[in-house]
Amino acid sequence: MNIFYYEIAVSLPLRQCFTYKSVIKIKKGLRVSVPFGKRKVIGVVIKKINNPEILNKNGVIKSIISVLDEYSIFDSSIFNTILWASDYYHHPIGEVFHSFIPTELRKINDKCIAPLELDTNPDILVNEDDKRFNLTKDQDKAVKKLSNATGFNPSLLYGVTGSGKTEVYLQLTEKFIKEGKSVLILVPEINLTPQLLFRFESRFKGEIGLYHSKQTPLKRLKIWLKAKFGDIRIVIGTRSSVLMPIKNIGLIIIDEEHDQSFRQSEGFKFSARDVAIKRAQEEKIPIILGSATPSLQTLRLVKENKFNQVDILSRVDGRKPPKLIVMDINNTPLIGGVAIETLSAIESVIKKGEQVLIFINRRGFAPLYQCGSCGWVADCNSCDSNLVYHHSRQRLICHRCESAYAVNKSCPVCESEDFYLHGSGTERVEEVLQSSFSKTPIIRVDHDTTKKVGSIQAIIEKIHSSDSAILVGTQMLAKGHDFPKVTLSVILNADNGLVSPEINALEKLSQLLIQVSGRAGRNNNLAKVIIQTRYPEDINLNKIKTGDYMNFANQCLTTNAKLNLPPFSTICLLRCSSPTQISNNIFLERALSILSNRKEINVIGPLPSLISKSKGSYRHHLFIQTSSKPYLNKVLKYLTNEFQKWPETKKIKWSFDIDPMNIN
Ligand SMILES: [Zn+2]
Ligand SMILES: [Zn+2]
Repeated sequence: MNIFYYEIAVSLPLRQCFTYKSVIKIKKGLRVSVPFGKRKVIGVVIKKINNPEILNKNGVIKSIISVLDEYSIFDSSIFNTILWASDYYHHPIGEVFHSFIPTELRKINDKCIAPLELDTNPDILVNEDDKRFNLTKDQDKAVKKLSNATGFNPSLLYGVTGSGKTEVYLQLTEKFIKEGKSVLILVPEINLTPQLLFRFESRFKGEIGLYHSKQTPLKRLKIWLKAKFGDIRIVIGTRSSVLMPIKNIGLIIIDEEHDQSFRQSEGFKFSARDVAIKRAQEEKIPIILGSATPSLQTLRLVKENKFNQVDILSRVDGRKPPKLIVMDINNTPLIGGVAIETLSAIESVIKKGEQVLIFINRRGFAPLYQCGSCGWVADCNSCDSNLVYHHSRQRLICHRCESAYAVNKSCPVCESEDFYLHGSGTERVEEVLQSSFSKTPIIRVDHDTTKKVGSIQAIIEKIHSSDSAILVGTQMLAKGHDFPKVTLSVILNADNGLVSPEINALEKLSQLLIQVSGRAGRNNNLAKVIIQTRYPEDINLNKIKTGDYMNFANQCLTTNAKLNLPPFSTICLLRCSSPTQISNNIFLERALSILSNRKEINVIGPLPSLISKSKGSYRHHLFIQTSSKPYLNKVLKYLTNEFQKWPETKKIKWSFDIDPMNIN
């Protein structure tokens, strides 16, 4: 009897695959159930092996219990992308695999991979009536240029805000659909899916697949299976859909490619943008990265002729971009973070029946709750962070771990009942504005007001149906949405970005300011953006103020090239957490001793992370920088092997964070 050996990736946080045997031949990519310890778990067949090493060591090889499906979970392009991702991000192969498998297929149940009995017709027809507007010259050129792309062909679609990138996406999708292909559109946030879905559903008759983490596992499985077997040909999804199997995929579009939300920062730390590019390369298909504020990483690739660049520089309605005004707040009284002059600017807009958008990157009422007598500050028991006072919930909340505490009536140190609320969040700004403009609707858009499914659509509808109104919100308000009635935007705390220790702080700040200004004034050439700052002379702020993002980004690129900062070098954080600081330090010091005498690598640390304690664990890292990615990859593999031998490793949790989003 023949015995076949297979390498299996199991759904456990382990850095290796395991060898199992079978008397039947099994195809690569099939799901199987295998014994693991005393449990039965799901695994994916990675490859067949001829002479397993373990046999020579007289080890025991267990048998595969059963094959679960007739169809492979992924075709070879996705398969290879997953292997690449595990290698590039140094993350256990089993976890990488399983993070792209729908939850329902990760456990042993009655679900299997097979075509569904259809309740809809998979045909996609174009609704010609939806094409009400003529394309602008720039849009037309972009569609023509991008339509000609064949094979792996990455393009930056640089379209200023309001230039009508979505129409370009729609027309390209139509072209690919007519050729019998399917299209995947990635968006950075769930909140941006309803408006895009609406545009696609207006243009195409037939089911459009929506895929994101707020859907039920069963719903997700259904969409996944339909896409895999060609019953859905247009998929709109967030980062979790990047490796969704889609029959005959012909094009990938990444909308708002610069957005940090494409990056997953917990567990398997990866960038869906980068994984999508790798996938397009494996699938040999074009990929379009759209943005009004492209990332430096993309701009560098354009400069090196690895990416094409297609521009849409004119706005659909011919309006001019809003004017950015820097407002010095050093000598002006602030009411809940809003300057008096800002209040009067708001008033004149409201009087005209128009809308104002206020951006503040902080939710809650006040970020600091402090005793007025001894200076005691309310902080989280398990994190290194101050508690934020939330007025509507009457709680002190940790924004790190979401623990809610009762609001102290008296100080735990001196028993004083006198408390200060320092700083402002969205709730406080809402309250201040409501008292100044009692007849105007104030619409707050933040994590707290949009938790419920469907709440964001309701809020957006309210904004569209109101006349004069003031919108107060966080990042959510800064992204992708169009608010035609807004003619004034205010950024309350841009200074966080100017003084931040993060490597890409300026890139992020310039993107934010341009994006916020892009929300405003569809039908008004006189829209304004007020940036409140204590650093009105700041050289970078004054460059961004011109509104010329590309010029500013190119200057950042030149500076980063000189300083050998990303995207001209690679950064990796070796992160480490444990209940004691000393365990972290011993582990990281030992890692440092291996890294420190290597020429091509710079290492800084061990350092406490910016958030040095989270959910009861202390957090430290080594900051590793190199100009040679392949060399770094080799060294990290060597380190991974070493870690497994060290007793120090048992006391801590560690991970590599490649191209980290922040050093938090
Ligand atoms: Zn006190
Ligand atoms: Zn906490």
